[in-house]
Amino acid sequence: TKAAKAAKLPPLPRQPRLVDLLRVYNVRNKKFLGQNFLLKKSITDRISTQAVSKTRRGGRVLFVEVGPGPGGLTRSLLEAGAKHLVAVEKDTTVEPLLGQLRDSSAGRFRYVLGDIIDPDQHGLYERIMAEAAVCDVLQRQRAAQVAASDLDTQAEEETATMEPFDQVHIVANLPFGISGELVAMWAQQAAERKYLFSTPDTGMTLMFQKEVCERLAAPLGSKKRGGLSVQCQALFNVTQIMTVEGKCFTPAPKVDAGVAQFIPHRQDKLKGVPFAVFRRLVRAMHHHPNSMVRVALRHNGLDRVVDLLPACGIDPTQRAFMIEIEAYVELARRCIEEGVDLKARPVRRGAKAATADEVDGDDGGEESEAGGE
Ligand code: SAM
Repeated sequence: TKAAKAAKLPPLPRQPRLVDLLRVYNVRNKKFLGQNFLLKKSITDRISTQAVSKTRRGGRVLFVEVGPGPGGLTRSLLEAGAKHLVAVEKDTTVEPLLGQLRDSSAGRFRYVLGDIIDPDQHGLYERIMAEAAVCDVLQRQRAAQVAASDLDTQAEEETATMEPFDQVHIVANLPFGISGELVAMWAQQAAERKYLFSTPDTGMTLMFQKEVCERLAAPLGSKKRGGLSVQCQALFNVTQIMTVEGKCFTPAPKVDAGVAQFIPHRQDKLKGVPFAVFRRLVRAMHHHPNSMVRVALRHNGLDRVVDLLPACGIDPTQRAFMIEIEAYVELARRCIEEGVDLKARPVRRGAKAATADEVDGDDGGEESEAGGE
């Protein structure tokens, strides 16, 4: 039908090779921005297909790509059928490449130059949504022109009314240096249904350093499971879907990479427990990942929480990676009920020697949210 013809977006016109564009525009790889580019189309195509397959068919889906760089993954996403794709890129030197892709995308791709961990997350979100709205305007104009040319009339100017998106899906080959911080920030936003997570259905397909990917997806009982894994798995079903050898990147890092998918749980596992409380508890219990949880808690000055463990079905001699999410949630709920102050106050080392059987591989070091967990 005419309407179907008008709504159908054309395939992406043939693009110049990325290696040629990088050379022509003299784009130099920047280590401090974690720039290891994926120029192999077979790999970016696989990631994109997996991302698109996890979104609702026929729904209005906004894809948000973080760090498109020269745009290899971006091209693959468009080829896989993304109709609304907005990217956030910090490096202004790739702008000519992104501009070229935007101009040939028939209104399907726009970008924002900015920092994904900008402290003004609200402002960044508004900019992303404004670009998504421009995608809509351009696509409607195009559809009106196609329809008018069929009828041999003038294209009607249409007033843009922005419909909400049913779903958001974030896709990225993340710079390794900020991936932990970013995922921790997104987990909090997801729990609070803020910004890109204000649709209940926001999912993510993300590439990490392989070890980080394995940790985030590590199941209950795996020693790789850390505090950030528990936080993410409380909100999402996290699965590792592929690994990519380091040699596939340009330049090649010394490590391999892994891709994980984060699909939101249908039911709220936190059951009304504020995420900030849950996170504080989970972090304190993973502070010394190889110690018994009672030791980790005591090291954080949280003796009162130790007393609550048995009532939540937690054996105080267990390690944090063996505790189910439901038990963490129950413990957090009880801490709130009992008015326990969870602000961790690490006990000075040596102030009270733990017995050797209690500490198993406790390195006593401060743990960061990102890599350490
Ligand atoms: N997506 C491209 C690919 O797969 O070839 C590039 C991936 S590269 C690993 C990471 C990208 O993230 C780079 O383009 C880098 O400039 C960008 N980047 C780094 N830090 C960023 C930040 N804070 N906000 C937005 N983009 C960032």
